[in-house]
Amino acid sequence: MNKPSSYYSYNSLWNDQLFKPDYPQLKGELEVDVVVVGGGIAGLTVAYLLKQAGKTVAVLEKSKIANGTTAGTTGKVTSQHGQVYSQLAQKFGIKSARLYGQHNENAITNIESMISKEKIDCQWTRVDNYIYTCKPSEVQAYRDEASMATKLGLPASFEKTSELPYDVTGQVKFANQARFNAAAYVVGLARVVDGSGSYIFEHSEVKHVRDGTSCTVSTKQGTINGQHVIIASKIPPAPLLARFTYALYEYPTTSYIVASKYAGGLKDMHISTDAGLPSILPVEHNGKKYMFVGGQSHIPGLGNADKRLSKLEEMSQKYFSTDKAEFKWKAMDYIAYDDLPLVGKLQPWSKNIYVMTGFKKWGLTTSYVSSEILRDTIFGIVHELSTLYYPHRLSTIKSLPRTAYTMAKKKFSS
Ligand SMILES: Cc1cc2nc3c(=O)[nH]c(=O)nc-3n(C[C@H](O)[C@H](O)[C@H](O)COP(=O)(O)OP(=O)(O)OC[C@H]3O[C@@H](n4cnc5c(N)ncnc54)[C@H](O)[C@@H]3O)c2cc1C
Repeated sequence: MNKPSSYYSYNSLWNDQLFKPDYPQLKGELEVDVVVVGGGIAGLTVAYLLKQAGKTVAVLEKSKIANGTTAGTTGKVTSQHGQVYSQLAQKFGIKSARLYGQHNENAITNIESMISKEKIDCQWTRVDNYIYTCKPSEVQAYRDEASMATKLGLPASFEKTSELPYDVTGQVKFANQARFNAAAYVVGLARVVDGSGSYIFEHSEVKHVRDGTSCTVSTKQGTINGQHVIIASKIPPAPLLARFTYALYEYPTTSYIVASKYAGGLKDMHISTDAGLPSILPVEHNGKKYMFVGGQSHIPGLGNADKRLSKLEEMSQKYFSTDKAEFKWKAMDYIAYDDLPLVGKLQPWSKNIYVMTGFKKWGLTTSYVSSEILRDTIFGIVHELSTLYYPHRLSTIKSLPRTAYTMAKKKFSS
């Protein structure tokens, strides 16, 4: 199969044979209640929730919808975001860890309901999710993670044996999680958002955003006025000061995935907390079985894509007896330096501009939770996670050394 030499998200298996209608480019002037910048899962989810709640919305996407990180995702819809619950409880307290877990768990059910209500064909499948380790020294930490997650009311258990062909010493299972084609889901949401006074615009790159009681968002060809603006483009494109602020609050990380035909055997989703071990997901696509093997994360600009993809392909062939990879791609996501999402006012002084970013490679549920927070905020309701996720809990000055340290550390990890 002929693949372009650059491995972008939009070359992923998820976009293979996915029909995407074309949306127009913004031209001239328009008025809606809420302008959303970015046509990935975050932008379309918040636009959908707002329209359901009675607002008119316009989504502005600089290229095509569902072509960014959302198309390059693995596709695991889970409240198990690595070994996160012991860390959250220790850093932010049990109450915060419980809120984080419950809202992400609820996100799975709510996404499922939206898919069913809107009849979105996106291969939604319920499966279990696991984190695994091959280190004997990690087993106790895994036991602790399972008991913490159970204490928080999450569907967790510790297991010693695994379906994986590795010498796994322990794993934490989260039961009844899900996988899906997030790009197809976004295309389905866009179909519902567009129309009745709401719009999707493609090839409409936002250049300027002006705050006020009425906000103005401009592209080269057009302008939209709205009472509120939500920035769902990862790093804010404008104003310049916001770009700078968020470049200090969060750092980017690139990861890779190879998808190869697979005879079958494995059924669940797996990710390791051990450096160098991959993320694993068996999927079905167009009636064929594929194995996704992902990982090899690094700070953008510091890694050799071909080398990293070859390494993943070798692992896939060695452990899962797969053919040569049919799809190879890379995608980028942002991580806040304290590991929590950044959701709320763009700047502390912003009147009506909001942001959601810092999804830490777990944006499929996190974007849903973040969308609920921003929908509630726009309706004047205080969401119980809004303080924990408030972006300006971080300080640009304080984050300077921490960001530099994190980037250096990440550079040397796999
Ligand atoms: C390799 C990898 C695997 C992952 N696997 C998982 C997983 O299994 N489970 C999970 O929960 N999460 C996973 N994630 C994370 C998840 O995929 C992301 O958090 C999520 O897709 C981000 O969605 P988004 O809408 O914020 O970004 P995007 O999908 O990138 O959308 C942002 C959009 O904004 C547009 N944009 C940018 N600038 C402008 C502008 N100026 N004007 C207009 N539009 C603009 C872009 O073109 C883009 O389409 C993974 C991430 C990576 C990198």
